[in-house]
Order: sequence, then structure tokens, then C-alpha cells
Amino acid sequence: STQIRLVSRPTGWPSHENFEIAHVELEDLELGQVRVRNEFISVDPYMRGRMNDTRSYVAPYALGAPITGGAVGRVIESAAPELPVGTAVLHQHGWADVVQEAASTFRAIPEIPGVPLSLNLHILGMTGLTAYVGLTAIAGLQPGDTVFVSGAAGAVGTAVGQIAKLLGAHRVIGSAGSEEKVKLLTEKYGYDAAFNYKASDVREQLRQAAPQGIDVYFDNVGGDHLEAALDAFNDGGRAALCGAISGYNTTERTPGPSNLANIITRGLTLKGFTLAAYLHLAPEFQEKMTPWFASGKIAYDETIVDGIENTVDAFLDMMRGANTGKMLARIAQP
Ligand code: NDP
Repeated sequence: STQIRLVSRPTGWPSHENFEIAHVELEDLELGQVRVRNEFISVDPYMRGRMNDTRSYVAPYALGAPITGGAVGRVIESAAPELPVGTAVLHQHGWADVVQEAASTFRAIPEIPGVPLSLNLHILGMTGLTAYVGLTAIAGLQPGDTVFVSGAAGAVGTAVGQIAKLLGAHRVIGSAGSEEKVKLLTEKYGYDAAFNYKASDVREQLRQAAPQGIDVYFDNVGGDHLEAALDAFNDGGRAALCGAISGYNTTERTPGPSNLANIITRGLTLKGFTLAAYLHLAPEFQEKMTPWFASGKIAYDETIVDGIENTVDAFLDMMRGANTGKMLARIAQP
């Protein structure tokens, strides 16, 4: 098995020196174990936080141990009758081409003709659920709301815009980091307006895109985006604080918004969440997403980097914005 391990903790932006590629001889299977060849590995922003040795909602990665996280693959050897050879599985064993563990640590996933397994790592899986939970349970989206989404062209963001519309949002506005992404937001993902946050001041661009103000803000970015949203909120506005990627690789403390007092004067609610606390909403999400997806109402994009040895690059490229939709490392050709 070829594995990617964290060998030192990055300060600021990670580099290749923080990782090693290790080759491991796998033992014969023990009773109850399966061997799985990964097809797609998920690289996610939260992994950057786990590379630090600081208190967070998930334990830091151990130095010298493989990077764990979401992946999908197929059983190639089995000593567990419940997961025969050929079964497609989702698991958290992460950045390796082949993994071998107890069958109970893998979840069989239904195979739908024409639906790539990789979608279980994003629109039909974790990032889709994150979008749904943030809009519903956290921000209390109401039909007729105007919604602003930052990081709108990423895996979570592309799901947020579409789900918001399907749940009755009146107007959805997105921001992303390139002209191509901005174009895609309005042409493919149903955003009513979108802007490139790198082109000019976020606050000013949001004001122009939302002349009537916003009711809901889905925050993937933090920093200047959160500050701009606080200025644009209508009374009673609600923010789902999902991520703050603008600060994940900074070495200095990120400055707080200068306009927090708007929370008081406009009666705003800002609520943070991590998905782990809302997994009970997965069945409700599936109930909604399955028919939406089956009737062709859901668009998605994948940006794919090939090869286990390029997984670190996939991760770093994602942090830099090279992806549209979900960034994935493809390990074995399905
Ligand atoms: P994305 O697919 O959105 O990829 C990350 C994107 O972030 C990049 O494509 C880039 O797009 C954007 N970005 C990078 N740096 C900056 C910056 N300085 N300012 C603005 N945008 C930036 O990743 P995910 O969809 O997986 O995750 C999106 C967010 O959701 C992250 O903050 C993540 O931590 C969070 N998250 C939270 C969860 C939870 O449980 N709370 C669960 C899953 C994700 P661009 O070209 O537009 O800059």
C-alpha cells in the first residue's frame, strides 16, 4: 500500500516537506477484515486544521501516521461475509491507494447506474449535507429569503446555491475567486448574481449585488466576507458560519469584523456548526436530495488530480482555489 503521512506540522502554508510517501507491505487479512482499493480520495479544508497541534473539534493528525479522511473504493479481498469482493464502500481511512481494516469501519454504498462513486464524497455525501444543514438547521432559511454564499464555486458552495433555490430562496448571490467561476455560478448553478472577490472590494460588490440587503449568509470564508455580510444584513438576518478558509493558512491572528455591533442593532443571529453534530439530519437530506438528483435538478463539478502520489498537490491546489466544485484525488480508474 502507498500511503501519505504527515511528518511535520506546517506553519502557514503546508509544503511537500510536511509529508512523506510511504510504501507498506500489507499483512494477510485477519478474520473480519477487508482490503479496499481506493478509487477517489477527498481532500478537504478541515484537514489543514488537523495538521496543527491545537485544540479543535477533531483530534490533530499524529505525526508519522497516514492522513485519514473520506474516500471511496471497492473491496478487492474479503474475510468478512458482509462485504464481499466488488462491494463499493465509503470510509475514513484516507490517503492511501489500498487500505485494510475491519469491515465495520467501511460502509457499503449503493451503486446507481450512471452515478459515479465519487459523488458520495460531495454532492450526495458530506459537502451536500453540510450545505443542507447550514441552510436549514443553522440559518433557518425561509422561502423568499435573499441568500449570500461565499466560497460559492467550491464543493459546499455549489450545493448551497442550488439547495437554497430549491427550498424557495428568492435571490441567491455568490462570491468566488475568478471570472470563470463567477460565470459558472450564474450559468450553471442558478445563482442570480455573482462576483469575483479578487476584483475589488467585497463590501461594495455585495452592496451592488444585493441592493435590498440579505437575509441569510452562508459563510465558507470569514474575514472580509463576513464583515461585508454584516453590513448587508437586513433586520433579523441569520448567518451559518460553516468555514473561515481565508484564515486557515495565516500565521497571524485574523482581525475580527469591525462592525460586530450590527448584530445588536439589527437583531442578527450568527451560528457556527460542524457537521459531526448534525449527522442525524442525513436521512432528511437524502429524502430531499434523492428526488432532486434523480430529476436532474442538481449540477456538480469535480476537479480531479490523478495518482496517490499527487494527493498533497490536490490538497494544496484546493486550498489555493484551483478547484471548481469538489477537489478529488483519483487513485484507481473505475
Ligand atoms: P471548496 O471546494 O470550497 O474549496 C476551497 C475553496 O476556498 C477554494 O476553491 C477557493 O476558491 C476558496 N478559497 C481559498 N482561499 C480563499 C480566501 N482567502 N478567500 C476566499 N476564498 C478562498 O472546499 P469545501 O467545499 O470542502 O469547503 C468549503 C468551506 O466549508 C471551508 O471553509 C470548509 O472548512 C467548510 N466546511 C465546513 C464543514 C462543517 O462541518 N462546518 C464541513 C465541510 C466544509 P476561490 O477560487 O473562490 O478562492
